[in-house]
Amino acid sequence: MTTTVDLRSDTVTLPTTGMRAAMAAAALGDDVYGDDPSVNALQDKLATMLGFEAAMFVPTGTQSNLCAILSHCGRGDEYIVGQLQHTYRFEGGGAAVFGSVQPQPLEHQPDGSLALADIEAAIKPDDSHFARTRLLALENTWNGKLLPMVYLQQATALAREHGLLRHLDGARLFNAATAQAALTGALVRTEARRIAQCFDSVSVCLSKGLGAPVGSVLCGERAFITRALRVRKMAGGGMRQSGMLAAAGSYALDHQVDRLAQDHLLARRLAEGLRGIGGLQFESPHTNIIFVDLVGEARKRAADFLPYLKKHGVLATGLYRLRFVTHLDVDAAAVDRATAVIRSFFRA
Ligand SMILES: *Cc1c(COP(=O)(O)O)cnc(C)c1O
Repeated sequence: MTTTVDLRSDTVTLPTTGMRAAMAAAALGDDVYGDDPSVNALQDKLATMLGFEAAMFVPTGTQSNLCAILSHCGRGDEYIVGQLQHTYRFEGGGAAVFGSVQPQPLEHQPDGSLALADIEAAIKPDDSHFARTRLLALENTWNGKLLPMVYLQQATALAREHGLLRHLDGARLFNAATAQAALTGALVRTEARRIAQCFDSVSVCLSKGLGAPVGSVLCGERAFITRALRVRKMAGGGMRQSGMLAAAGSYALDHQVDRLAQDHLLARRLAEGLRGIGGLQFESPHTNIIFVDLVGEARKRAADFLPYLKKHGVLATGLYRLRFVTHLDVDAAAVDRATAVIRSFFRA
């Protein structure tokens, strides 16, 4: 009997045995009073690791980004963001709905970046016609792509020159750091900090490749985090004995960062396995996500593809553009099984 190979997302990962033990053993208190030692330990750990004064544990990445934008911006302010960034496209328009903060979306370049000229052109003059441009929000990794460090430095320097604050949606910051460390030879934690230090605030998801069941952490200056705590409460994110969840996050940061490199290797293994299949087009993955476009004749069979995969025990998402994500609950054998099933569909 073979188990399902679930490549829909790295959010499907289940807590490991060691993580469950850490959760069960966590010292607890009421975090709304600031009394939960395990929440405090997680916040301190990530803030210190990334070089920030303070941090705040939140249930989701969506709430983390919302707290960040509403703490940086007020009613009538605007933030510059990519058309396809999570914050703009996949978070229900929260910054506009809850904060009256207007997004200024820009098209992405093929590498995921926002062109410096586009950013500069989008910054409004101080004039009563315009919303006040307050914030630049970037995402790294974006669609599994590592944004080049030089680009991050240039874009955030440009923002700073114009008096803008800078927020990073680093849902997969440690995947970005892992890919960057492979290029530079430095430690993953060193690269995570280098990336984070370009920004005034950074949001990191614990519930994706890091493998925790729940949670994100928002990092920034203490005064910023104090404002963010009010937004979190307003959004209903003040949790009580959340140390059981935070302990999972701390465990992930201690034990499940270095293994992200394996996920990246497996994504490349999948890409290698799919090479040469007619009708499939894809770029070599930077991290743990691979997008595969169906082209030509293959597009006509798009509607049958995912059901076929599912019938043969492989889960993915998409239609004409499929997404496969590797993570700690898939191994090389599982990836090879998925490759074989995909190949068999295109042979038939
Ligand atoms: C998953 C994700 C989020 C938000 O995560 P949730 O915890 O599902 O709300 C934000 N940004 C990016 C880039 C993500 O991938």
